[in-house]
Order: sequence, then C-alpha cells, then structure tokens
Amino acid sequence: MKLISKLLGKLPTLSSKDLAMDLGTANTLIYLKGKGIVLNEPSFIAINTQNNSVHAVGMEAKVMWGRAPKEIQIHRPIRDGVINNLDLAQLMIKHFIGKALSRFRILKPRVIICVPSGITQVEMKAVIEAALQCGAGKVHLIEEPMAAAIGAGLAVDRPQGFMVVDIGGGTTDVAVISMGAVANSQSARVAGDEMDKAIVQYVKEKYHIIIGDLEAEEVKIQVGSAYPQGEDKTFPVRGRDLVRGVPKEVHLASAQVAEAIQEPLHQISEIIREVLNDTSPELQSDIHREGIFLTGGGSLIRDIDRYIEEHIGVPVKRVKDPLTSVVKGAGKALEEFPRFKKALIT
Ligand code: ADP
Ligand code: MG
Repeated sequence: MKLISKLLGKLPTLSSKDLAMDLGTANTLIYLKGKGIVLNEPSFIAINTQNNSVHAVGMEAKVMWGRAPKEIQIHRPIRDGVINNLDLAQLMIKHFIGKALSRFRILKPRVIICVPSGITQVEMKAVIEAALQCGAGKVHLIEEPMAAAIGAGLAVDRPQGFMVVDIGGGTTDVAVISMGAVANSQSARVAGDEMDKAIVQYVKEKYHIIIGDLEAEEVKIQVGSAYPQGEDKTFPVRGRDLVRGVPKEVHLASAQVAEAIQEPLHQISEIIREVLNDTSPELQSDIHREGIFLTGGGSLIRDIDRYIEEHIGVPVKRVKDPLTSVVKGAGKALEEFPRFKKALIT
C-alpha cells in the first residue's frame, strides 16, 4: 500500500487544477487552484496586419504602444470597460490561458472568469466560448466587485451590506453587496485611463508639449496624488514640443498631477454618491458603519481614500493589494466552491 501511494505521488497531477481569471481593462491575472497567481500581464495584444497573426501579447505588446511600425497594430480588446473587440479578446484569453497552463498538465479544468458588472449576454457568451476553446470543462462567471469583496475577506454571504469601489483602468465599478449577490451597482468609464488622459491634457495646455499615454501613466504612478503633497516630489516627462516640433522635457510636481486629475476624481466620487443614494436605508446604514472598500489599481493614488471620505462623508478603506484582490477573490471561490457557488453566474 505504502509503495503504491509513494509511486502515485511521483506522477504529475492530472486533475483539479481549476483556474480563475480576472479579465481587466488594464491587466489580466490568472489564479491556479492550490497554487495562487500564475499570470499577471497587461491586457494588450499586438497583431501583424500583413499576415493577420498575433505578434505579441501582454507586457510585450504594451511596451510597443505608440512605438510599433505601421503593420503592427496594438489593441486593448477590453479597453472601455466591456469587451470592445470580441475576436481579439478571445485570442488574448486563449493566449493567456495557454501560457498559464503550459507548465501544468490539466484535464478539463473548472474556470471562473471575472467580468465587469455591466457585461452583456453576447459578451458573456464570447468569454465562455473562449474559455471552452482553451479546454475548460465548466465555465462560471463572477462579477468583479463580488470577487473583490470575497478577496478582501468580507462576509459577502451574510445579510449585511458592503460597498466595494473598484477603480480599474477603463472603468470604476461601484457595487453594494449583500447576501451573496450584487444588490445595486453602477459602472462608469472614468478610472485610471481617464487620469492618464487628464495628465496628457494638462501638459499640453500648460507647456504645449504632447506626451504619450504610457508616460502620463508613469507620472501618475510615481507622483500622482489626490491632494498636493507636503514634500512636493517631481517627476520628469518627455514629449514633443508643439511649437518647435522638437523633443522637450519638463518636471511635473505632485501638486500639478493632483490638479490635473481633479476632474476624474470628482466624477468617481459622484458615482459613489449616486449609488449610495440609490441604496436602501438599511444597507446605507451598514455601509456607514463598515465603510467603503476601495480596490483596483486606481485606488493606489495617494490620498484617494481621504478624498472620497471627505466628499462622501463615509469612512473609506483601501483593501490589501488592490491590483490582485479580484483574482484572489475568484481564486477563493474556487478553493471554497460550495460556499461561494451562489455568487457565481453559471
Ligand atoms: P483593470 O482591472 O481595469 O485591469 P487594474 O485594477 O489592474 O485595472 O488597475 C489598472 C490601473 O491602475 C491603471 O490605470 C494603472 O495606471 C493604475 N495604477 C496601477 N498602479 C498604480 C499606482 N501605484 N498609483 C496609481 N495608479 C496605479
Ligand atoms: Mg479590475
């Protein structure tokens, strides 16, 4: 008996490596049951239009943004919150699943895919189809705010209201969750990308320099803040001088970046206010007591928690590891499948 189990232990495991996938507008993450996060890549795909083939995917494609030759087109298939290019989204999903699974031998895994709360039936079908084509056995969908709440360790199955605000790349999703379901939610196309655009616009108006989106994103990450900081850090940006057409560099101060992103910040807090006003008094009182939970990469902007707290008048907490909370939540739903089954769309 002992010998047999010893021998069996040496064989590669062939089953039960189910996976969860967070298909974000900015980043795609894959969680493998029993292993944790095995893939974390930008949601970008580069297509060679000459022979219609995939040139690059993920980080490799993102760094080509604005730099690729004419025949290479860089796409963000999930750019505007929902899937804006089904074929490319499917290609990207297949590539990522293939990459995540290549090191593991898996038979018909169960797959949970996190989707934006505003996803349409057609998009749901396309996502499910892509996963099935990659060899998935059973596919379940979970709304991102629900996954984020599970990832943050909130007791989503209790009769108690929680508000989760997920500030991603393309969209901010605000959801009120209670008894294992989304009671009320809204998704708006203002999040990290809009902050980047606001910075591009600011530099153009103030210095007559055109900078790239990725450059703006870097400034935002390095010195971005909801309020001007005491010690005012600066960060250099390079772009093209509109007047003389030559490259030029300026140093942006954190206070300037804060000024540049005020409009998107204001819009985000207004969406939160609307969802809150549209929620039952009982759930509202739970939210006042528990606070609002912030997640998504956009929640990493310094002092955005204080900004929302001051505008809404409700305590705000940023979850631990906001860039991975959604996929970790979906991963937890895989690990404790019977408990969280109700939170899934099957
Ligand atoms: P999605 O779920 O839409 O893919 P993510 O939750 O991965 O989005 O967040 C991506 C967004 O977070 C991007 O706009 C990115 O610029 C922004 N971001 C990432 N890190 C930071 C940071 N440290 N400070 C500010 N913004 C950040
Ligand atoms: Mg997300």
